[in-house]
Amino acid sequence: MNVTELFASNVFNDEVMKNSLPKEVYKSLRKTIDEGEPLDTSIASAVANAMKDWAVKKGATHYTHWFQPLTNLTAEKHDSFIEPSGDRVILQLTGKSLIVGEPDASSFPSGGTRATSAARGYTAWDPTSPAFVKEGTLYIPTVFVSYTGETLDKKAPLLKSMTALDLQAKRLLKLFGVECRKVATTVGPEQEYFLVDREVYDRRKDLILTGRTLFGAHAVRGQELEDHYFGSLKTRISEYMRDLDETLWSYGIFAKTKHNEVAPAQHELAPVFTTTNVAVDDNQLTMELMKKVAKKHGLVCLLHEKPFEGVNGSGKHNNWSLSTDTGLNLLDPGENPENNPRFMLILACVIAAVDTYQGILRASVASAGNDHRLGADEAPPAILSVYLGDQLGALVDSIVMGRQYVPKKAIPGSIGVPESPIFPIDTTDRNRTSPFAFTGNKFEFRMLGSQASVADPNIVLNTIAAQAFSEAVDALEGAKDFGKACKQYTEKLLKDHYRIIFNYNGYGPDWEPEAERRGLLNNKTTADAVPEFFKQENIDVFVKQGVYTEKEVVARAKIQLENYVKTIRIEAKTMAEIVKKDIYPAVVGYTEKVCSAISAKRAVSEKLHCNADMVLAERLSRLSDQLMSATEKLENDLAKVPDPEIEASKEMAHTIVPDMEEVRAYADELETITASSAWPFPTYVDLLYSVR
Ligand code: ADP
Ligand code: MG
Repeated sequence: MNVTELFASNVFNDEVMKNSLPKEVYKSLRKTIDEGEPLDTSIASAVANAMKDWAVKKGATHYTHWFQPLTNLTAEKHDSFIEPSGDRVILQLTGKSLIVGEPDASSFPSGGTRATSAARGYTAWDPTSPAFVKEGTLYIPTVFVSYTGETLDKKAPLLKSMTALDLQAKRLLKLFGVECRKVATTVGPEQEYFLVDREVYDRRKDLILTGRTLFGAHAVRGQELEDHYFGSLKTRISEYMRDLDETLWSYGIFAKTKHNEVAPAQHELAPVFTTTNVAVDDNQLTMELMKKVAKKHGLVCLLHEKPFEGVNGSGKHNNWSLSTDTGLNLLDPGENPENNPRFMLILACVIAAVDTYQGILRASVASAGNDHRLGADEAPPAILSVYLGDQLGALVDSIVMGRQYVPKKAIPGSIGVPESPIFPIDTTDRNRTSPFAFTGNKFEFRMLGSQASVADPNIVLNTIAAQAFSEAVDALEGAKDFGKACKQYTEKLLKDHYRIIFNYNGYGPDWEPEAERRGLLNNKTTADAVPEFFKQENIDVFVKQGVYTEKEVVARAKIQLENYVKTIRIEAKTMAEIVKKDIYPAVVGYTEKVCSAISAKRAVSEKLHCNADMVLAERLSRLSDQLMSATEKLENDLAKVPDPEIEASKEMAHTIVPDMEEVRAYADELETITASSAWPFPTYVDLLYSVR
């Protein structure tokens, strides 16, 4: 296979556009893509026609407006290219059908922004993300808005947040005499996932219905040997990864790194970074294809944040940076950050933004699944903090403390093996425990859950950075001595927001009390985190930056809570059903067997030893009683959960989740004393070691 030929072969990319569009049309479209110029609708027909011709050659018969409603998934409705022409058909894609679509919006979450009777919703072409052909259909990336103009998707606000950031970053750069046409944010999301054998998966109702295991005693062997991380790939896994890479490449997705992760059966895939909205589309497509390709290999790809208790869960690291169209990375400190006022101001703005808006940044990654990860010793805590590394950390410390800064130079290092080359050792080590870590020339936001849409946190990041930039420009524009004013402003930001900087172990036990002392937020559950969006100052930042209206912010937060409540309700119901229909009957059957063994032995002779049987029978029946009462309590509490999202979410977090933990504890203990042959479904060992 020729990778360079395969790459992007399913994408209507720049090269294809250039070759298939009239020169003027191509130029005008490029202007829209590169500089955010409004689309000249008169060129739509020409683009549509070229796109259709290209897609048909690739075997497409249909097209779809592909969009990202307020779920974590994508949505599509397929129309064929067929138009009647006399008694024959022609294949057609009109300019209008390229630009707008009109799916019925009534069944997508809108958080009350739209009455159900007003079902009208529009999808509008997003020319900045390339169209592609998949399984006989031309996919046209679109944004999704309601009849009254409210956005109903994640893409529209993401694009608005990118525009806001572009505008404010350009204003800021102008102060430094840097001119450019565009500042774009770039994102490279590292995606973690689990792979399990399909046959084993098919026998786990909890995995099928909820994406995670609701039961399961810890495997006798988990990740304690630390032998899976970066371990050699099993043949079946490496065949899967190869197939996945090739599939992703054909869609123009820069899949780059792949390796085993910490937990058994856990893996990671990282792409090369790209413009944020393309990265978001690519990640959605990646998640979908990960699942599809797995099927072909008799595997199931689990994207849930916590499929298994007792081993690591899965996250998605959001590497985020800002670059100009001239190729300047604004988060690149250069050799001497201490003499780079532009970098220092931008850094200080980002730090200030993360501190000021820590509540909504945390809330942007809140979900039922992610609640199991954050703060659980494997992922950053639910507290936001910023890690700067040794070099920048020392520089910022010296600015805040008013001390002289002595730069630490990158020293030429060698790994101590005579044959190995000399190379510069990085000035900053990695800190895997920080939720928001500076890593060389980008920030890595590590709080995202593995199945989340990358759009959510980036909408917030872009918006709050834009706000901090605009405040900086407002304060510095027209300053008599710009250099001095800039230095003072940077210092003030760093001093005012110093509390958010934490360069030590975020998993350590001292951090929580220390964070509390600093006044940092620690919203542990989705129910606690999401209401941050209702605070006026947080609503205001979205409104000011033109990303959301107040109504939209509130609606989205409500949908997020509603989603959380629904997820936990499904989990709780699934749990109760599995207890009553599978676990309890199995344990009763096994207890009966143990009791019959006791009677049988007694029938032979009073002298036969029955102690162990008696103890076992007693424990089995006691635990199954406890299991049933805990399940009853769970069901009763669930029936009492009120309707409104905010109250319901609190009830879920603080009553239902603990109830579920109790049910699970009894069931898991029962698993450890019930014969394997009697247990109704595969165990953790079966699942985690299912792929050989
Ligand atoms: P690691 O974190 O494993 O050291 P890298 O730092 O090389 O790996 O990159 C991790 C991810 O960060 C990759 O997806 C990469 O594309 C992305 N990345 C690198 N540079 C940037 C950037 N300027 N903007 C956004 N993402 C970036
Ligand atoms: Mg990384």
